[in-house]
Amino acid sequence: MAFEGLADRLQSTIKKITGKGKVSEQDVKEMTREVRLALLEADVNFKVVKDLINRIKERAVGQEVMESLTPGQQVIKVVKEELTTLMGGEHSKIAVSDRPPTVIMMVGLQGAGKTTTTGKLANHLRKKQNRSPLLVACDIYRPAAIQQLETLGEQLSMPVFSMGTEANPVDIATKAIEQAKEEHNDYVIIDTAGRLHVDNELMDELQQIKSKVKPDEIFLVVDAMTGQDAVNVADSFNDQLDISGVVLTKLDGDTRGGAALSIKAVTDKPIKFAGMGEKLDELEAFHPERMASRILG
Ligand code: GDP
Repeated sequence: MAFEGLADRLQSTIKKITGKGKVSEQDVKEMTREVRLALLEADVNFKVVKDLINRIKERAVGQEVMESLTPGQQVIKVVKEELTTLMGGEHSKIAVSDRPPTVIMMVGLQGAGKTTTTGKLANHLRKKQNRSPLLVACDIYRPAAIQQLETLGEQLSMPVFSMGTEANPVDIATKAIEQAKEEHNDYVIIDTAGRLHVDNELMDELQQIKSKVKPDEIFLVVDAMTGQDAVNVADSFNDQLDISGVVLTKLDGDTRGGAALSIKAVTDKPIKFAGMGEKLDELEAFHPERMASRILG
């Protein structure tokens, strides 16, 4: 289970304060110290923790708590609200272009779950929003990636556009959008190439696709299990491509929570979806408030 350690620690810290009829500054100090340690242990970015703790402290010794009839519970409410804000506040929806098709570019490092998420997202759009997506295979460097997308397309009974490994990814994306218009596919989801590390060649190629197809969304897929590495990857993809959102995969594993809690604060881009398993229906819309409730119990 994701966040288990963090949830256990925060919940036991919270228990100590919930029932209190009066909350002293000393109580708040002790609580925030424990919250701080729990977050750092969960691999949350140092600066993010510092800012968060300052905000919690400021509010927890303020009027809204001290003058409340149930100050203990009020403190917890403050912690929950701040965790929610930290993860982006509201759940943000997928863009809809007023001139279809809506184009979504999927980017990320190899192994993060990009191709799988492309299939999951297509499935989500069809099931939840009655859309008919076209999947596009732009990872020309790995024949296996094209094959993988085609297999996903078969499983989903959805069209996959590919031109093999010889064509240029910008041309593939452009032609795919033309086909989508002809065939009335209202979403085009482009599975781009990934590498093992962020490098200039990869970024150049992604920038070229971006400037040609002008996507409505650029989703970066990152692996939650990689903790602060995921945050650094998100930061550099965002610098180069101005992404519109993040899909955090493998949240079904025993990830500690660092990526989920740091990405929005570091990149200012929301986590839009969470991958909860390998199957095509294991993608969930990311709701910051629900996530905070899950962590705080
Ligand atoms: P890509 O190289 O980024 O396209 O990554 P793939 O889509 O091939 O995924 C790499 C591996 O991660 C595959 O074995 C997927 O089944 C697995 N995977 C992707 N998303 C998730 C997820 O949310 N949870 C779990 N447990 N595995 C996932």
